[in-house]
Amino acid sequence: MSAHAKHRRPKTRRATRGAALATVGGAALALPLIGATGAQAADSGTTTYTVKSGDTLAKIAKSQNVDGGWQQLYKDNKSVIGGNASLITPGTKLTVGGASGTATATQASTASTGSGYVKPVDASIGTQYHSSGSMWSSGYHTGTDFVVSTGTPVKAVANGTVVSAGDGGAYGNQVVIKNADGYYAQYAHLSSLGVSAGQTVTADQQIGLSGSTGNVTGPHLHFEIRTTASYGSDVDPVAYLRSHGVTI
Ligand SMILES: [Zn+2]
Repeated sequence: MSAHAKHRRPKTRRATRGAALATVGGAALALPLIGATGAQAADSGTTTYTVKSGDTLAKIAKSQNVDGGWQQLYKDNKSVIGGNASLITPGTKLTVGGASGTATATQASTASTGSGYVKPVDASIGTQYHSSGSMWSSGYHTGTDFVVSTGTPVKAVANGTVVSAGDGGAYGNQVVIKNADGYYAQYAHLSSLGVSAGQTVTADQQIGLSGSTGNVTGPHLHFEIRTTASYGSDVDPVAYLRSHGVTI
């Protein structure tokens, strides 16, 4: 197995398109969005919203006052959006609303997710999944890094069984858990391990403390989701958590 390589943060490559538009004397801002928007009322109380470039489900849910927020919007439109809530394509038509006005008080607490899944740490994201760069052996970042100082409690994101807990080479001290849904979750660069192989864990259970062991330039939690136990079968961890109802 090849080394995971360093976790230097690659330079952010922000799209400059927005800035370029704004420099055209502001005129671009006034251009009509031909066919790009539309919330046509329908008899059923639902409306159709056409996804624009730059939209996110959260943004749409807010602008369209969707009861239940983006999670509800995603639920209602999963058949057209697909398995990844963070990937919506401009031009996609979303059904908005439905039983509006009748379900305003039914939204569950946003602090907990009904699914039982949680974030591994309550922290912001540093280096994102699939950031490209030569510092990663596969050519891209196979996990998501959370910005945490050493000693931050790290939680299991789901119910599962500990596959391994120990030295992961470039990953430092790491815990790998096979989640109840069959996916593998990896928590790397830990300063201390709180579980051992074979142990059953429940979502939100502390499994160790974050740190900077292994090949890193500073403390952070490298969190990875894989479809198998093998390196290279990674999927987008944030999309994975979102698909399980975690707000992140
Ligand atoms: Zn990482």
